[in-house]
Amino acid sequence: MEPLNSLTAHELLALLKAKKIQPSDIQQSIISQIKDCDQHIKAYVHFHEPVKAAFNLEEGTCPLPIAVKDNMCVNGEETTCCSKILKGFHPPYDATVIARLKKAGSVMSGHTNMDEFAFGSSTENSCYGPTRNPWNLDYVVGGSSGGSAAAVAADEAVWALGSDTGGSIRQPASFCGVVGVKPTYGRVSRYGLIAFASSLDQIGPITKDVTDAALLLKIIAGHDERDSTSADVPVPDYQQSLINDVKNLRLGIPKEYFIDGLDPEVKIAMEEAINLLRSKGAMIQEVSLPHTEYCVVTYYIVATAEASSNLARYDGVRYGLRQRPEKTRKSNIIDMFEETRAHGFGPEVKRRIMLGTYSLSSGYYDAYYLRGQKVRTLIKNDFDKVFTECDAVLTPTSPTAAFKIGERTHDPLSMYLSDICTISANLAGIPAISIPCGFSKKGLPLGLQIMTKPYAEEMMFRVAYTYEQNTPWHKEKPKISFGKNNHG
Ligand code: GLN
Repeated sequence: MEPLNSLTAHELLALLKAKKIQPSDIQQSIISQIKDCDQHIKAYVHFHEPVKAAFNLEEGTCPLPIAVKDNMCVNGEETTCCSKILKGFHPPYDATVIARLKKAGSVMSGHTNMDEFAFGSSTENSCYGPTRNPWNLDYVVGGSSGGSAAAVAADEAVWALGSDTGGSIRQPASFCGVVGVKPTYGRVSRYGLIAFASSLDQIGPITKDVTDAALLLKIIAGHDERDSTSADVPVPDYQQSLINDVKNLRLGIPKEYFIDGLDPEVKIAMEEAINLLRSKGAMIQEVSLPHTEYCVVTYYIVATAEASSNLARYDGVRYGLRQRPEKTRKSNIIDMFEETRAHGFGPEVKRRIMLGTYSLSSGYYDAYYLRGQKVRTLIKNDFDKVFTECDAVLTPTSPTAAFKIGERTHDPLSMYLSDICTISANLAGIPAISIPCGFSKKGLPLGLQIMTKPYAEEMMFRVAYTYEQNTPWHKEKPKISFGKNNHG
């Protein structure tokens, strides 16, 4: 048998059901892999008690360990958003997604690395340092949920949770060769997710295949009275949507996404994906999303404005770090706020707070924030129209494969442009998935993105499943050779 840590969640659940293995066997296998690999990959930033003290799994419908991005509150476990300002913060409660997983019998293997406050596309903006790509340690894992994607790709986690504000689940999933889902805005409760941009943030699964993504979404989705933006819409059984058939489905290819900056290798992989789905009976048609060129600027106005407001609470009074002003200075509470924020936040966080505060300030509000919101409506209208013409839209997840660590850190604009394909789904509030669709010449994974209309995750899973079942990519694994790598 393959080592347990390399199996998917649905394969493990089948073995558990057949009583061939115990939940503790899975834990053991994951912990061994973490011990062998994580010193090189650095996917995790904190391990949790059940893992440290080793396995006391409760029986439940889903007694599997899960890795959790460091911006979701786990009762009593340090949760820092990979920011110095939250060091030492131990939430006194569980996020709703965590409570639901615990109810299903899961344990948290640990919190995973991320860009500080989820601001970034490479996991290099973490106060703990970058995570390395299991496919090539010189390359980034993408971000901001890079630790979660790397943990799944390196078999250091059965599956993981990420959060996605502009692509932070899908882009790292694409860079690491795994599956990532951003659900419809409102599908999953944000209670206990440390807020970045409240009108864009969604929690979602990062998994080894589409079946696992459907399983995990079913566990975490659904209305929550603690999050007024969570929708009171029934959650379907997503397993039913795993249908290997796209006959007569109308798949739209938005011409605005196939522009110059697209890496030729990505373009070829996309064309092959489109041809495969066509050969399975899908009707492929070109569509237009005319406001695509405004997505990145609109996002960076709306997201930074909301972030500057959400991050105002980190002032040294209630959470984490409190930096005392130097004794020699005549100091008051304002000095304490300043010292705490100056010490606690990294450079990208400060840049975004300044950008966001600027576009919200009086005199600039109408020109920036208000206009940004209006353009956001135009972008959403584009999608509403396109979904009257087709059932799903296909694009690359990212215009390139993973880039080298350090390559874009001094050029924020080039970093921001790596989200050009993913941001629109957050602005429009629609669901989107990234699935592996091949490799670059350097052997780095590429991702295919499938978007559907709000609450049409079933259609999204169906197209993704059909593609996956007819291609070999999801079975490929990075060749990791730090340890024995055999923990059956
Ligand atoms: N990379 C984007 C940003 O830096 C998206 C991040 C996210 O989705 N959290 O804002």
